[in-house]
Amino acid sequence: MKTWFAIPLWQRVVAALILGIVVGYFWGPEAESIKIIGDIFVAFIKMLVVPLIFFSLVSGVASIGDLRKLGSVGWRALLLFVVTGQIAVWLGLLLGALVQPGIGVDTSMIDMGAVPEPNPTTWREMLLGMVPQSPVQVMADVNVLPLIVFSLLLGIGILMAAEDGQPVLKIFDSGSVVMQKVTMVVMELTPFGVFALMAWVAGSLGIPALIALSKLVFLNYLGCLLIIGVMYSAMIKFIARLPVIDFFRGIVDAIAVSYSTASSNATLPVTLRCAQRNLGISNSVSSFVISLGATVNMNGTAMYLGLATLFGAQIFGVDLSWGDYFMIALLGTLGAVGAAGIPGAGLIMMALVFGAVGVPLETIAFVAGVDRIMDMMRTTTNVSGDAAVATCVAATTGEIDRAEMISADDV
Ligand code: ASP
Repeated sequence: MKTWFAIPLWQRVVAALILGIVVGYFWGPEAESIKIIGDIFVAFIKMLVVPLIFFSLVSGVASIGDLRKLGSVGWRALLLFVVTGQIAVWLGLLLGALVQPGIGVDTSMIDMGAVPEPNPTTWREMLLGMVPQSPVQVMADVNVLPLIVFSLLLGIGILMAAEDGQPVLKIFDSGSVVMQKVTMVVMELTPFGVFALMAWVAGSLGIPALIALSKLVFLNYLGCLLIIGVMYSAMIKFIARLPVIDFFRGIVDAIAVSYSTASSNATLPVTLRCAQRNLGISNSVSSFVISLGATVNMNGTAMYLGLATLFGAQIFGVDLSWGDYFMIALLGTLGAVGAAGIPGAGLIMMALVFGAVGVPLETIAFVAGVDRIMDMMRTTTNVSGDAAVATCVAATTGEIDRAEMISADDV
């Protein structure tokens, strides 16, 4: 027991991830029997999402001190979300156009997966959905965007109430500390959850489909790795001006959890903890940027939407004009913003982009069977992007404790 806890958590998690793949590979589809351990782990971290965002965002906004600072954090984050999303979707288009993953696919090897119901939400509904009409309902539904809006308003209210707001602020400050401790306890389950989920994924991989779609899967990984390795590294080095290695070392837990759960939302408590504890980002900036990023900043998903649209066009011989490319870039980024941070959300968003440029929706059935393995990498890219943006925003607004980050030896 003592030896177990003496090993830093991130090392236990990485070991569990690798061991899970090996065990799942040899065990085969039967490995599904231990998926329940992973599901329990995910349910526990999901349990943290609402109270953690609520307490830390309200306390963070109120402690930022003035509304102008909040505005400057907000516009920086949004600018970085938009720019990185655009770069990501164009990268997907470039990889798809250069390598042409849809040419020569042996479709007979593919088990057609189920096509998920296209999401019928309109933009009007989405806008209205951001208003927290009933805060209690929003919490009960774990609806992150309106919860952020409510928490921001509450934080601003506390700021405006000045002295009178102090007792309420105290409750939120203390609630935020308590939730961080609860997160710490739940995180101890990470190695077990990650192990079980990886064993399940590795055991249930449809190898023939994977071979038939290997180019697409490879490009999905390549694109994501380029985004993480080149774009995020450059952001950390040139915008945040911090050591890239320390950044990645600080977010190892979030990388492992996002990869095994394929859910940005479920990873959110882990990303927050990494940002605050290992990267030294202030509670205000991390809780605001990372909670928002978990739902709207999805560069892996944006890249994949671009790539997959070209894949579908190539399989079905659809000619795309330059206008179509711009349409894909626009809808790909909007789709990534609209996609929920849950497994398979990107798959649902494909319908939005495909419909606009005439790519048949059957493409979704082709890729559905191997989506999980691609989703895992997309999610890791999405989550690392939230941490990268939060680091840049914090570094440029003086909200990062550099000593804390650089001395992160025992993350
Ligand atoms: N699963 C991804 C996420 O949670 C979204 C996607 O499917 O691309 O970030």
